[in-house]
Amino acid sequence: MDKNFKKKNRETNIPQNSQTRNKNLNKVTNQVFVFTKSLTVGELAKELNVNPSDIIKKLFLQKKLVTINNYLDDETIGEICLEFGFDFKKEEIIDEEDFEKLKIDEKPENLKERPPVVTIMGHVDHGKTTLIDAIRNSNVAANEFGGISQEIGAYQKSINGKKITFIDTPGHEAFSAMRSRGASVTDIVVLVVAADDGVMPQTIEAIDHAKAANVPIIVAINKIDVPGANPDKVINELMEHNVIAEKYGGDVMTCEISAKKKIGIDNLLETILTEAEMLELKANPNRYAIGTVLEAELDKGEGPKATLLVQNGTLYSSDYIVVGSAYGKVRRMTNEYKLVLKEAGPSTPVSVIGLSEVPLAGDHFMAFPSEKQARDIAEKRRIKKINEERAANSGITSLENLYDKISEGQMTTINIIIKADSTGSAEAVKASLEKLNNDQVKINVIRSAPGAITESDILLGSASKAIIYGFNVRPSALVRKKAEEEGVEIRLHRIIYALIEEVESAIKGKMKKEMVEKSLGQAEVRNTFKVSKVGTIAGCMVIDGIIKNQAKVHVLRNGVVIYDGDMESLKRFKDDAKEVKEGFECGIKIKGFNDISEGDIIECFEVVEKDE
Ligand code: GDP
Repeated sequence: MDKNFKKKNRETNIPQNSQTRNKNLNKVTNQVFVFTKSLTVGELAKELNVNPSDIIKKLFLQKKLVTINNYLDDETIGEICLEFGFDFKKEEIIDEEDFEKLKIDEKPENLKERPPVVTIMGHVDHGKTTLIDAIRNSNVAANEFGGISQEIGAYQKSINGKKITFIDTPGHEAFSAMRSRGASVTDIVVLVVAADDGVMPQTIEAIDHAKAANVPIIVAINKIDVPGANPDKVINELMEHNVIAEKYGGDVMTCEISAKKKIGIDNLLETILTEAEMLELKANPNRYAIGTVLEAELDKGEGPKATLLVQNGTLYSSDYIVVGSAYGKVRRMTNEYKLVLKEAGPSTPVSVIGLSEVPLAGDHFMAFPSEKQARDIAEKRRIKKINEERAANSGITSLENLYDKISEGQMTTINIIIKADSTGSAEAVKASLEKLNNDQVKINVIRSAPGAITESDILLGSASKAIIYGFNVRPSALVRKKAEEEGVEIRLHRIIYALIEEVESAIKGKMKKEMVEKSLGQAEVRNTFKVSKVGTIAGCMVIDGIIKNQAKVHVLRNGVVIYDGDMESLKRFKDDAKEVKEGFECGIKIKGFNDISEGDIIECFEVVEKDE
């Protein structure tokens, strides 16, 4: 048999004649009217082969007034069908590019058991990391020399000849971040609760997350080696949160373990398998792979690199895949031991290179039989994404522009796109920038992703008037040109605080600062002269600091300000002076004020921005 027989004969996920799928096919078969969108009275009459006036009449009797061109809602279409002796069915049309929404009807005979995918959650310090390490290092088989690479975000363990897939990032943040992106990868949650500490806030949060995702929990009561550890107390406390252990008649399995002393680890693994058996987890290995990105980064040598979890089907090396809105060919696929794999079946995590862009954790992927189909679908997804992101409001196109907006005193939103060398740094830049939000400026990060700055970033930047920040990545000449054409500003940094400082100073430097008075000096009026056509001139002695021409002045009489205004002229003898220092005499004329008297104090000041 052709050794590629299995690879070649996989079921595709999207029918290849998907063009026809996309048409709105209304059809009547066996007296069932299948419709895909709302229809007018005229259209429905035609499909059912009845007279439009009969439909209008029937609706009229229900006190619904319609004309032949009115659209009918699904419910009314159903009623009319029944009235005319048809059954009906509404078929939802899913665009081929929305492949995550695709519901695949598997024939039961094609389904095979697959390993469970497990996430470990629990309160901080209850031993999640220690447990992950203990599991990693348990049952180390002969072929697992070298141990599991830290580079991959998930790994598999075998016990009693069966595999379990563990997602490596503990905690419910990663779990809920995935879920918020529509990805559900976890079949079972192992909830770690320390026997010497009991149920804590994050234990409860983890329970809530697991329940919201409808994922069963296995409780690992950890640290049973600690003197005074009280597993029963944990079980009792969990009951208050509706996690009822089997021994109290509930359906939650519990295991007592010590992650540190490696006690009960095998039992925990066996319990996971028992739970998995009850869940009857199955998939069809004989179809093109579908799955989710667990992690992704831009590898300096190898380019975009992603850990993918195959959830259904089998991924083969050299398959064409669409990941998020990028496409690629699986150039190399490795497992947790860095061994090169030719194929990866359901529930297998693999590290893959060959993608055109770095995807995001939680992105879905799918494999396709042809490069063309993969490329077309990726393109459609890209356009759809841009259109969706275009909804992002208008923003600021450059930092200069930001200065103007802020100094106009309006609340300003700055849309920012962050591209960085890894998911971690992209997240760090995003988090730091968002901390700069204040009551005048809102930083709106519309895309934050690892990978080079691409044309798609420029398009998004142009559509949503965003500034692109590149952190440890540089745009190609082509992308730079595109940015110029589109008027999108790209700013590049290699040091995170320099980037943050730049944005911060752009915001702060130009924000409406609080203005304060700064006193320059005081002069005492010793006598006054009335000069016709000019007004009253005060002959003064500078008693403190300096008096500057054209400065602003307060006039004080007995310590009270009696006038605020501007100096019109400052003279030393007959000549104009720029400034006169303490201990010297001068003549001052105040603009529009002649009521100056001997003994008054003229205080000279400037208005300056308040220092931080
Ligand atoms: P995490 O925050 O849930 O990932 O908790 P860690 O795995 O970092 O563990 C927190 C602390 O508890 C560390 O000092 C561990 O060595 C310790 N620890 C974890 N498991 C056990 C255990 O089974 N017994 C004992 N005595 N200590 C443990």
